[in-house]
Amino acid sequence: METKRITIKDREHPQDGELREAAEILRTGGLVAFPTETVYGLGANALDEEAAKRIYAAKGRPSDNPLIAHIAGESGLAPLVSRIPEAAKKLMEAFWPGPLTMIFPKSEAVPYGTTGGLETVAVRMPSDPVANRLIALAGVPVAAPSANTSGRPSPTTADHVWEDMNGRIEMVVDGGPVGIGVESTIVDVTGEVPMVLRPGAITMEMLRDLLGEVEIDPAIIGPMSPDAHPKAPGMKYRHYAPKADMTLVEGEPEAMAETICLLAGESLAQGKRVGVICTEETRHFYPESLMEKTVVRSMGQRAKEETIAHNLYAVLREFDELDVDCIYCEGFPRTELGQAIMNRLTKAAGHKIIQA
Ligand code: AMP
Ligand code: MG
Repeated sequence: METKRITIKDREHPQDGELREAAEILRTGGLVAFPTETVYGLGANALDEEAAKRIYAAKGRPSDNPLIAHIAGESGLAPLVSRIPEAAKKLMEAFWPGPLTMIFPKSEAVPYGTTGGLETVAVRMPSDPVANRLIALAGVPVAAPSANTSGRPSPTTADHVWEDMNGRIEMVVDGGPVGIGVESTIVDVTGEVPMVLRPGAITMEMLRDLLGEVEIDPAIIGPMSPDAHPKAPGMKYRHYAPKADMTLVEGEPEAMAETICLLAGESLAQGKRVGVICTEETRHFYPESLMEKTVVRSMGQRAKEETIAHNLYAVLREFDELDVDCIYCEGFPRTELGQAIMNRLTKAAGHKIIQA
């Protein structure tokens, strides 16, 4: 299949004329990748079981991993769900449109092909102007998982999408690099107490400020064990992962850097190609003699964790291109946005974590 690529001139003000063909493709059962504020999504009509199946095929995604339905306005929610819990109303008011997905009991309109056989449906209203306008023009809810091949780091630019999806989907809408860089926070609002199933830019602290009591799926916090059973089916797969063998090192900044230098030295001695992921604040802890022999990349500033989230997947993808054998990556405090960052890094490392 030939994949068409279009570029939006002004991503803050997309013109309907630019998005009409993409909307038509979505309406008629095709696949369109588009930017959202979190990562690029691979969209299809969420109410069309055949279209949803094509998403799984294009990504190579396991069919028990349900899709998030994206809507353009609050009126899009009622047809998809059988109940809107009180907590959800508060969350919508505070965080929609934005990087927050909620799990609701599903309505009959939503096919099991979209929900991975579950009686619940995940719904989000993106704030990105291109995503929002495209969904509105399509006139249908749009199922849109991250637009990467299953298992690879999520795409944060249209070029990342192109690497994985060229030839597999009808269209890529290029709206430039995304803002946040990690996937949406997922909150299950079907139970007594809301529960976070995936951490994201809407942090645990923000949710607790608004709702008081909020739980977090125990399977996704801390150095999670590989055999834990997370409640979001997708969280059990080793995804977001680079090709190289990655080890995450946690601790105080200087101690992390020392440990990474030791580990990198050992791997170099074994003849391996080594990658190191550091930050602006810790770069100077790595001696020139090591920097010369390894590929060192800074993910951003510790003092501005949003820069780390923004660059995380692009750095992991860059290491795929550079063909390193192993990567040693610094850790972050597991609070606020750091919780989402550490969740993705832990998974990228296949749970290989060392305390410095
Ligand atoms: P992605 O589309 O790549 O952002 O992944 C979507 C995530 O949402 C996966 O981890 C899914 O398992 C999760 N998800 C989607 N629908 C549901 C649902 N009904 N219940 C629990 N988790 C869900
Ligand atoms: Mg994904």
